[in-house]
Amino acid sequence: MSIAAAAPTRFSSINPANGQVVGEITATTLEAIPELVAKAKRAQVAWGALTASARADILRPAADRLKAESKRLGDLASREMGKPLGEAIGEATYCADGFAAELDEIVHALAETLREDKRVMSTLKYAPLGVCAAITPWNFPILMPHQSVLPALIAGNTVLLKPSEETTLVAAEYARILNEFLPADVLAVVSGDGVQGRALVLADIQLIVFTGSRETGKRILTDAGNGLKRVILELGGKDPLIVLKDADIDLAAAFAVRNSFRNAGQVCVSTERIYVDASIRDEFLRALTVKTAALKQGDPCAPDTTVGPMVNARQKAKVVAQINEAIARGATVLAGGDACEGNFVAPTILADVTHRMEIMCEETFGPVACVQAFANVDEAVHLANDTPFGLGAAVFGRDLANATAVAQRIEAGMVGINQGCGGAEGCPWVGAKESGYGFHSGPEGHRQFAQVRVISHLKSVTEPLTPAKSL
Ligand code: NAD
Repeated sequence: MSIAAAAPTRFSSINPANGQVVGEITATTLEAIPELVAKAKRAQVAWGALTASARADILRPAADRLKAESKRLGDLASREMGKPLGEAIGEATYCADGFAAELDEIVHALAETLREDKRVMSTLKYAPLGVCAAITPWNFPILMPHQSVLPALIAGNTVLLKPSEETTLVAAEYARILNEFLPADVLAVVSGDGVQGRALVLADIQLIVFTGSRETGKRILTDAGNGLKRVILELGGKDPLIVLKDADIDLAAAFAVRNSFRNAGQVCVSTERIYVDASIRDEFLRALTVKTAALKQGDPCAPDTTVGPMVNARQKAKVVAQINEAIARGATVLAGGDACEGNFVAPTILADVTHRMEIMCEETFGPVACVQAFANVDEAVHLANDTPFGLGAAVFGRDLANATAVAQRIEAGMVGINQGCGGAEGCPWVGAKESGYGFHSGPEGHRQFAQVRVISHLKSVTEPLTPAKSL
C-alpha cells in the first residue's frame, strides 16, 4: 500500500486474526503536512516557553483518563494488530500506571544543573528543539507512541505523531486522550504509511524520533542528514540467548518460550537465536518443546490465547520463507513449521540451525525459536556477536560472576543475566551497532529530546581572560 494521493484517500485497518475491517482512516494528504508543521511550529512558541514542570502538570490528568480507557484501548490494539487481548490491555495499563512517574523522571532529567571549576560557573539548560516527528511501528501500538511523544512534549517540543498504518486507530485514540489536556496544535496525528512518514522527515522539523526497522531507519537517516536534523532511531534486533552449561535449564527454557513467542515473536527484543552448551542441548530442547506445546494459539480475544497471528500476510510470508529456507538447509523441526490458516504461523522450534541460514542472520519477527549448540564459551560469544544487530541479549548461568563475564563480551545495548534485557527503572532503552542511533528512556534518554545549552560566567569579574579559556 502506498498512500500518496493529493486528494484525501481512505485506507482500512484490518484485524489480522479474521480479516474484518476494524475501521477506516483518512490518510493525511502530502499537501496538508507542511500546514500541520507550520501550526505545530506556531504552537511551539508558547508551549516551549513553559517550564518542563508546568508542561508535565498540564498532562498529569491524562493518566487517569488513560487508565479509565485502558480496556477500550487494549481491545482496539488487539483487533488492529492481533496481540492477545490481555497483553494489549496490559500495554495500555502499563502506560497509564507509569504515567506520573515518567513525567517526574523527565522533568527531573531536564532540570538545570550547575558545573563549576576554579574560575567559571556554568549552567546546563535543556531547551526545546522545535517540532518533533514521532514515527512509530505497530508491534506495541500504544507504548511506542507513548515513549516517543511524552519526552518530546515535556522537553518543550510540539509533536506530529505518524503511527504505523497498521495501528493508526489506537494511536489516534492515545493522542486524543492527551489532546483533551494539551493546548491546540501541540500534538497532532499524521495518518498514512511511509509516504507520509518520509514527507514529515523532509518537512521543516527539528527532531525525528523513530522506532521501526533498520532499513527504514537508514532511509530516515539519509533523508535527515541533508538538514542535519536531530534523530533518535530505535531499530530492529536479532537478540541472542546464551545458555551456559551450569544454567537452570527449566528457567532458561521458560524464558526462551516467553521471549521467542510473546506477541507472536513480533517484539524488537525477541529471543531470535538460542546458543546452548552442547552438553545440555538435548535436555534444553526437551524442556523447550514441552513448554512450547502448552502455548495456545488462536483468536487474540479468547481469554486463554497466548499466541496470536502475524500482523499481516506480508509478515507471515517473510517468516514462513525463513523457516522453509532453514529446513531446506538442514534445520530440524521440533515444533510447528507448518503452514497455518490466515495470518497465523504456529510456534516453531528449529534445531541444528547455522549462520548460513537467513533465519540466524536477518530479523525474523515471528514465533520461531532457533537453537544452535556451542562447544565452548568463546564460540558462543563469537556466534552471539556475529550480527550487525545489537539490541538486547540474555545469558543464563547459575554462576553469576561467570555469566556476567560472558554478558560483558556481548555487543548489545542491553544484556540480561537470568532475565530479559530490560534494565532497572531509570535505565535507558538502548541499541548498539545497527540496532540504534540515539536512544530513549531514563534521564540520559530524556535529554536527547532537548538541546543542551551551556551558559557560563566568570566567578570573579576582576579576573582577566586567559587565551585558553577565551576560546
Ligand atoms: P517499519 O520500519 O516498516 O515502519 C515503522 C514506521 O515508519 C511506520 O510508521 C511506517 O509507516 C514509517 N515509515 C516507513 N517508511 C518510512 C520512510 N521512508 N520515512 C519515514 N517513515 C517511514 O517498521 P514496522 O514494521 O512498523 O515495525 C517493526 C520493526 O520495528 C522491527 O524491525 C522491530 O524490531 C522494530 N522495533 C524496534 C523497537 C526498539 O525499541 N528498538 C521497538 C519496536 C519495534
